[in-house]
Amino acid sequence: MEARPTGIDIIGDVPWGTHISQFYSSKDDFYYLAAFIKEGLFNNEICLWIYSHNTTYQEVKEIIKSQVVNVDYFIESGQLKIVSYSAWYLENNTFNESIVSKKWADFTNSAVDNGFDGLRAVADIGWLKKSDFESFNNYEQNVNSVISKLPLIAICLYDIGNVNILEFGKIVKNHAYTLLKDDAELKLLKNDELLIKEKQLQQSQGNWRKLLQLLPIAVFIHDEQKIYYCNNAALKITGVIDYDTIGKMSLLQFICEDKRQDYEDFVRQVLNDKTCNNCLYTKLIDKSGQLLDIEIISTKYIYNGCSAALSIISNISHRKRMVELERDIIIKNDLLNETIEYDKIKTEFFCSMSHELRTPLNVILSALQLIEVQQKNTGNSQEKYFNIIRQNCYRLLRLVNNLIDITMLDSDFFELNVKNCNIVEIVENITLSVVEFVKSKGLKIQFDTNTEEKIIACDPDQIDRVILNLISNAVKFTPTNGNIWVNITDCGDKVIITVKDNGVGIPRNKQQLIFNKFQRVEKLFTRHHEGSGLGLPIAKSIVEKHGGTLTVESEFGKGSKFSVILPSKTVAEQSCPLATLSPTGHNFVERANLEFSDIYA
Ligand code: ADP
Repeated sequence: MEARPTGIDIIGDVPWGTHISQFYSSKDDFYYLAAFIKEGLFNNEICLWIYSHNTTYQEVKEIIKSQVVNVDYFIESGQLKIVSYSAWYLENNTFNESIVSKKWADFTNSAVDNGFDGLRAVADIGWLKKSDFESFNNYEQNVNSVISKLPLIAICLYDIGNVNILEFGKIVKNHAYTLLKDDAELKLLKNDELLIKEKQLQQSQGNWRKLLQLLPIAVFIHDEQKIYYCNNAALKITGVIDYDTIGKMSLLQFICEDKRQDYEDFVRQVLNDKTCNNCLYTKLIDKSGQLLDIEIISTKYIYNGCSAALSIISNISHRKRMVELERDIIIKNDLLNETIEYDKIKTEFFCSMSHELRTPLNVILSALQLIEVQQKNTGNSQEKYFNIIRQNCYRLLRLVNNLIDITMLDSDFFELNVKNCNIVEIVENITLSVVEFVKSKGLKIQFDTNTEEKIIACDPDQIDRVILNLISNAVKFTPTNGNIWVNITDCGDKVIITVKDNGVGIPRNKQQLIFNKFQRVEKLFTRHHEGSGLGLPIAKSIVEKHGGTLTVESEFGKGSKFSVILPSKTVAEQSCPLATLSPTGHNFVERANLEFSDIYA
């Protein structure tokens, strides 16, 4: 039933169908009823005041006026009716229970039919004579069931001077509330029916509590400091054994330390009704120290008249684990696809390697056949054929060396032979050793440095090999009349060696592929040159083993620049003198022959 404000503070709101009694000793006790009428007039109710011999029509009007300014307006509009007890209760000067009961029902229903919410009535029963009390009391008892079903609130006024203690009890019993003055103060009595309703309310509260206890979701009523209520599932999730213990705790104690600030902000927002999202994902540590991923859904809740938060906490660890597993599967699937792709590349590589191995062998065989023919016919100089044989032997050797090295680097068996060396000398010597060869290809090579000496820890043989590979690539991919620049710059904590050319360049989208093992870029754009595609991956691995980096900058059609950055550090090796190398030594020639073996004279 809809709650209606009575305007009487001590009662507050009541549902339709409420029957109230008041004991008065003089009409001065009627004044607070003006607020009752006022509340009805302003809440779209028809208001009826039935006065008795203790008051007059005019007096009632005056009483109501103490609260309602425009009483006449309400009387004229028909919303306020002031009638005498005889007009309402008596028919041919006698009281007829069934007629009066029907009157209440008809009058209330016509109020509703006329667009009002219901009827509110003040009925002065001061006219009641002792001889009529019994029958009137029966009527009151019966009319209760009529009133309780109607949109009607009625206050019956009894003259306290006219009732004895027995009658008083009976009157109180027939009304939901009884108002009476005690020491000039208005007091309220609630009757049995009300107590029953309270009991029913308590019972339904009990049922709700039972239901909450059975719920498998953790429910808490709490604020920032305390837990006021929680259910069984809440005890379970926190690992606390009993309600007494948890009642002395705060939910904050169960939140993972680095998440506490977020949690506090969240609860504050809930309590101030300011959450835009009433859900928080956080971590809970239970009593045994186990960490759980949880979801808290909270709403503001008035508990025992104070602001609190009603929170539902769910363990989402399994859900989170599922999401992680799904993510794992995606990553593993990607890895599998990558492996399949890598395996395909590897197979393609070994197919093309068989071609690479066959070509120099065929050339060696042809050269040998030619020597045989020459020997038979003339006995001419055979130097040209020996050169061809030598170069192709170098090619095969380089290929086999590279295959062995890439396998060793892959399986981490590749060891550097690190010494303190003058890196400037190494780079300069290796450049000088190929000057003639580069010239013979119609190219110019220049060396430049910003320092004469820079001692760093490195494996000189491997650095030679890296620089030679970069220069041989520059020779391979730079057309006649082109330039190659080899520079070394001492930057204090690092040394930068660059090999630059103004050759064919590398398309942007292929620049990272050239460092991948087994991938042959020529196949992807042009294939004018011989080579296994192992040179740069090996060079990169060697530089990285030195703690450095190998990178490329290139513009297709304009040229390329490869940069080797090596950390400038030394190793302790007192007994061993600085390693020196001679540019004319056998080593250089051999190495250059090996690295340049792909380029035919
Ligand atoms: P290879 O031993 O077959 O030359 P590399 O690993 O040394 O293999 O080089 C891989 C590929 O990188 C070359 O085939 C070429 O396409 C490209 N490349 C390397 N250096 C240059 C350069 N200076 N100019 C243009 N392309 C280059």
